[in-house]
Amino acid sequence: MAKPRAFATRPLFPEARAVLEKHFEMEHWSSAGRLPRSELLKRVSSCEALICVITEKVDEELLSLAPKLRIAATVSVGYDHIDVDACTRHKVAVTNTPGVLDDTTADLAWALLMAVARRLVEGDTWMRSGTWPGWDIDQLVGADIHGKTLGVVGFGRIGRRMARRAQGFDMRVIYYNRTRAAIDVEKDLRAEFVDMDSLLRQSDFVSLHVPLLPGTRHLIAAESFEKMKPTSFLINTTRGPVVDEAALVDALKNKTIGGAALDVYEKEPMAHPGLPGLKNVLLAPHIGSASVETRTKMSVMAAENAVALFEGRRPPNVLNPEVLAP
Ligand code: NAP
Repeated sequence: MAKPRAFATRPLFPEARAVLEKHFEMEHWSSAGRLPRSELLKRVSSCEALICVITEKVDEELLSLAPKLRIAATVSVGYDHIDVDACTRHKVAVTNTPGVLDDTTADLAWALLMAVARRLVEGDTWMRSGTWPGWDIDQLVGADIHGKTLGVVGFGRIGRRMARRAQGFDMRVIYYNRTRAAIDVEKDLRAEFVDMDSLLRQSDFVSLHVPLLPGTRHLIAAESFEKMKPTSFLINTTRGPVVDEAALVDALKNKTIGGAALDVYEKEPMAHPGLPGLKNVLLAPHIGSASVETRTKMSVMAAENAVALFEGRRPPNVLNPEVLAP
């Protein structure tokens, strides 16, 4: 029997390709340049499974050109690039890759937090310039991390990993979430539930971990920065539009807050033009889950979700299980 056709918008990793090639007639985009939208629309017209990443919009336009498509398996936990309702209307299953990237993403959020507080990138730039004159008493003095207050916004899988790491720094941890966590989770992570206003006013570091949803777009805006301490830092490893980037630029310029470290941007791949010129911001290119181990696991997970559907099983990470009903 002919294998179903699948298209992966990236070469993925060999482990994931091996899973896919066993079950599908596989094609993947392997050119050096980015996959153009027109090429994506052409390729999906004949495929039954799509393995995609966050830079590809799976929307009504794509779905209307993909009559055979049965699954869109994204290699990411966030799925704001996929119109899940439209997929459900077109009977296309949507899957993501939750859980396997929690520690890696929390590690990166911590790397950003530490680097911005201790001005590490400024120091690296200075050393490379060959102009560092030697130690001095007030050079690159930053902010302490230990003993401070960490505010976690979005206390899900990644937010909790962020909180756990704070124990090693003897920090007070406060969190805000749509729903309060179980008491045993709070006890284990030594985390206190507070309202958003208190979190912004009390935190020395505010770290964002809510998904991008209509209700979280610009969750952090001008009025949020007004509530934060002038010495506090914003860390964003979730999605750019959760923060009003123009308001952040103003807050950084006016020293309303102490600084920010960002992995994500409102209009990727561009950062707001006001950001690169500022010293009190650190800019990473959306690398939250970017370790070899984790990206391999994510790719395999996406592949296994697709395989499950075509073997008549429920894909382990299906987001719209209603499409599986006969
Ligand atoms: P998760 O486990 O679903 O956690 C998200 C948490 O946010 C949940 O606890 C949820 O509350 C809470 N929440 C949702 N809407 C809220 C609102 N309006 N106000 C307050 N809390 C709200 O998700 P995750 O796996 O931790 O991932 C979080 C996000 O990280 C992903 O969506 C993705 O965008 C981002 N991410 C980025 C990278 C990167 O490369 N930078 C890597 C991985 C993930 P409930 O408990 O009530 O549902």
